Amino acid sequence: MVEVRDVVKQYGSLKALDRVSFDVRDGEKVVIIGPSGSGKSTLLRSLNRLEQIDGGRIIVDGIDLYDPRTDINKLREEVGMVFQSFNLFPHKTVLENITLAQLVVRKRTKREAADKAMTLLRKVGLADKADAYPGKLSGGQQQRVAIARSLAMDPKLMLFDEPTSALDPEMIGEVLDVMKSLAREGMTMVVVTHEMGFAREVADRVIFMDYGKIVEEGTPEHFFTSPTHDRTRLFLSQIL
Ligand code: ADP
Ligand code: MG
Repeated sequence: MVEVRDVVKQYGSLKALDRVSFDVRDGEKVVIIGPSGSGKSTLLRSLNRLEQIDGGRIIVDGIDLYDPRTDINKLREEVGMVFQSFNLFPHKTVLENITLAQLVVRKRTKREAADKAMTLLRKVGLADKADAYPGKLSGGQQQRVAIARSLAMDPKLMLFDEPTSALDPEMIGEVLDVMKSLAREGMTMVVVTHEMGFAREVADRVIFMDYGKIVEEGTPEHFFTSPTHDRTRLFLSQIL
């Protein structure tokens, strides 16, 4: 589903990504962890071509992202992304937030888009909030709406960049539960998170990044019980 090869991204003299390579297979869940500034967000944004890269290549579902001939809008329709900040449209209701792109991009009828939105709202436990405005919802509820909005486009790949980092502790679980059920349904997912319980439970593979490089990559079992690198051990000792 995803093939990342020798990707380099520079901000001036800073190498935010330094020859990063990895693959994600169809249906696989990959969790990326690492200290602040290690390049996690830059990497995730590159997978959706929200960044220009300075070297290497990225193929998503057979589409070469950095080939100038690639229709980037087509690609973005296949890849959903959920950020730390929920980015809902404040002056649109929850239902409108979830139907808008379906109407404009997918050209669905109002009826189809609303049906799909309601199905997804039920799935994230918010069917009763369809007519509410985002400002009336808790952070956890807003993030669940943001996930539903992404799913409405029927993405083949979902990217999550610290989706629970901006939430009060009591709301983290409800968002992780939605992500876990998505994982169980077989969605291909790349998740940047500091939630180590989630990584242990859901990840097929954990990638640890530092200074723009992949330092260590392995199963959660390997990662949490017998990491190879000192840098990984130090990081784990600081957060666990
Ligand atoms: P992470 O998500 O792991 O915290 P980022 O990918 O956000 O790390 O950042 C990686 C490095 O690139 C950091 O040193 C950060 O300061 C730098 N960086 C990120 N975005 C920009 C930007 N737009 N301009 C300059 N430097 C940036
Ligand atoms: Mg980040």
